[in-house]
Amino acid sequence: MLERPRFSKNIEHFTCAVCGKKVQGNGYTDHCDNCCASTHDDIYPGDRASDCHAVMEPVGLEYQNRKKYILYKCTGCGYTHRNQIAKNDNPATLRLIASHQWRRSLFQR
Ligand SMILES: [Zn+2]
Ligand SMILES: [Zn+2]
Repeated sequence: MLERPRFSKNIEHFTCAVCGKKVQGNGYTDHCDNCCASTHDDIYPGDRASDCHAVMEPVGLEYQNRKKYILYKCTGCGYTHRNQIAKNDNPATLRLIASHQWRRSLFQR
């Protein structure tokens, strides 16, 4: 088999580490559509090669080439990363992120 592309499509469902929502994966799902938190599982998107696995908290929004991204910072190692916003992301959560009022405690049960 040829070398795999950096973005490996990995369909998986996961339970959000912050709000507990069961997120349905579609192959590109890398964050929770309810609270928008992610976990530090990848080195390259989708490769699940990181051994950190701490929660990545959304710290802001960024717009580039008409695309919207959520900026993340890892609570474990400080790694920063951005993910494209998904169509089904909770708009109320995105507003919190945009105004820097996102707090993990707002979503924890
Ligand atoms: Zn969540
Ligand atoms: Zn990390």
